[in-house]
Amino acid sequence: MDTPWQDTISGGRTGWRRREANLDGEPVFGVDYLICRTCRLGWVEQPHSDPEFQRCGLASAGLAALRTENPGLFWHALGGHFRDYEPFWVGTDVPGGYQQRELCRSASARSRATGWWR
Ligand SMILES: [Zn+2]
Repeated sequence: MDTPWQDTISGGRTGWRRREANLDGEPVFGVDYLICRTCRLGWVEQPHSDPEFQRCGLASAGLAALRTENPGLFWHALGGHFRDYEPFWVGTDVPGGYQQRELCRSASARSRATGWWR
C-alpha cells in the first residue's frame, strides 16, 4: 500500500499530535504522540488499530515512522494501559523502550488542561 500516514492535531489531547494511517479514506491505525526536543523525549499514547488490521504491523510501522522522522529521541508511554499493546513492539530495539514515564515539565505544560489522563 502507499505510505498512508497522516499527521494531525490530536482530537483528545491538548498539545499532542496524532499519527494516523488511512486506507480508502478510513483510519485503520492511529496513535497520539508528544515530543520534547529539549529533553529528547517522546511519548505515545492510545494506539488504536482497526481490528481487521491488527496483525498487519501497522502499529509497528507507524511508530517506526515517527522514530525515523524524529531521530535521537527516547520513546516512552504515559499510561500503563500501553502494555496491552506490547506484542507490537516486543523485540524492537527502541531507545526508551516505550516504558511508562511521566511527562517532563515543558511537555506537561503543553498538554495541560484537560484531565484526560485519569
Ligand atoms: Zn522536556
